[in-house]
Amino acid sequence: MASLMKFSNLLKRPNISPVICGSGKRWHNHSTGHQASSETSDGGLNFDLTAQQIEIRDLARKFSKEEILPKAAEFDKKMEFPWDIFKKAWEIGLVNKHIPQKYGGLGMNNLEGTLVTEELAYACGGMQSGILSTELGQIPLLLAGNDQQKKEYCGRLLSEPIIAAFCVTEPGAGSDVGSIKTTAVKKGDEYILNGQKMWITNGGNASFYFVLARTDPDLTAPKSKSFTGFLVESDLKGVIIGRKEVMMGQRAADTRGITFEDVRVPKENVLIGEGAGFKIAMESFDFTRPYAAAGAVGVAQRALDEATNYALERKTFGQPIINHQAIAFLIAEMAMDVELGRLAYYRGSWEYDQGKSNSYYASIAKAFASDAANKAASNAVQVFGGNGYNTEYPVEKLMRDAKIYHIYEGTSQIQRLIITREHLKRVKMGLILKRKLYNAGNLDAGISLQCVSEYWIVETVNNDKTLCIEVKIVALD
Ligand SMILES: Cc1cc2nc3c(=O)[nH]c(=O)nc-3n(C[C@H](O)[C@H](O)[C@H](O)COP(=O)(O)OP(=O)(O)OC[C@H]3O[C@@H](n4cnc5c(N)ncnc54)[C@H](O)[C@@H]3O)c2cc1C
Repeated sequence: MASLMKFSNLLKRPNISPVICGSGKRWHNHSTGHQASSETSDGGLNFDLTAQQIEIRDLARKFSKEEILPKAAEFDKKMEFPWDIFKKAWEIGLVNKHIPQKYGGLGMNNLEGTLVTEELAYACGGMQSGILSTELGQIPLLLAGNDQQKKEYCGRLLSEPIIAAFCVTEPGAGSDVGSIKTTAVKKGDEYILNGQKMWITNGGNASFYFVLARTDPDLTAPKSKSFTGFLVESDLKGVIIGRKEVMMGQRAADTRGITFEDVRVPKENVLIGEGAGFKIAMESFDFTRPYAAAGAVGVAQRALDEATNYALERKTFGQPIINHQAIAFLIAEMAMDVELGRLAYYRGSWEYDQGKSNSYYASIAKAFASDAANKAASNAVQVFGGNGYNTEYPVEKLMRDAKIYHIYEGTSQIQRLIITREHLKRVKMGLILKRKLYNAGNLDAGISLQCVSEYWIVETVNNDKTLCIEVKIVALD
């Protein structure tokens, strides 16, 4: 298959096998075939990428430089999705990267995906979002699809350059996913889908959508049981594709509203089962938030590079402006943000690839990196002076492209809510665990909890009674 040729060496990896991790409640596939970037063979810290990861990143870098960069301004102006560039990316395996080998794909892990994202965003944030959002549309399938669904949809994605999209947001509900109003009502062997989705990236390009809809009419029922995830063909009767929205930035991405009017979806297209949809959508974000963070870092890195080059050339008061300390400090701030943003998304991805619950790190990465991109792009415009405000120079586009990272895949406010929630969970878990261990006589004053176990604790004896404490220790490290 064309899309596999470039990465043929990856196929030598052991098969991707599902790993039940932590609470056993996650469904993601976990690659066991290689080390993640920050783990050495003896488990120590190491910031080197593997040879394979470097190969993937460099391929994406070359592709971005040769195919995306020269066309970025043109597609931004035309506000057009770059189909030809998408097809080339598909040919060399830069999309559909996470489809497991069992279904004919490359089975790349999260970190490898984010490396590609950063490189594409460096050249054009809009093309990065447009081209790679098909993976956002696929993640629910990969996390929660059954064998038949994966065979069918992965097969189609790999055999022709088609696109998937993720339909969750509605005109009345974005951050508050639990308030979506799209309904799916079971009739015989089908579900009848009605409702309106909004801001769907690739809404007009996708061959199929992941759609989240309410299946429990009882509005007081818990979110975790009220919604169902469906795979919905975009050419079904009753699927109405809205106009392309005119955006501030990332204009090469195709963003639209999608309306469903009595759309008949076969029951075979339900992911997992009725009521599982909310969890599927939320777990998809665990996978894709490091992606969004990596995109933001790509934009920030570009802003840093453009600003540095300009500051070395532009002279005022008889010397290059980089020699003015105020400009040098702007550059330093940008460099600090780029480096920390990159480390943050590496961590978010790495946690995911280790099978750990990564929500905390993924949200930190997204919140931090989107701030970094916005600050860096604004600083780059400042370094360029009047030229920075002009469309003939590249940095005003960076400023427009950067803003969306604050908004999609959960706004920066929502990321901060998640960070606090996860932080408090850790604090509370620590306290509960300490108390249980203390009560069981297993905790001396000086014991550090991090030393107890790496992953789970199944603790031992208390006066002949076995005390089992199931706590995810990852939440305490
Ligand atoms: C270009 C683009 C592409 C997108 N692509 C997709 C896609 O492919 N699929 C998809 O499903 N969605 C997509 N979205 C939707 C995106 O995820 C939502 O816009 C986002 O989640 C915010 O929802 P909202 O717009 O309804 O804002 P709202 O939820 O109405 O939020 C408005 C403001 O209030 C703040 N806020 C809300 N609740 C709280 C709270 N509890 N505490 C503090 N502050 C709060 C928000 O942070 C924000 O600042 C896209 C959006 C855009 C603009």
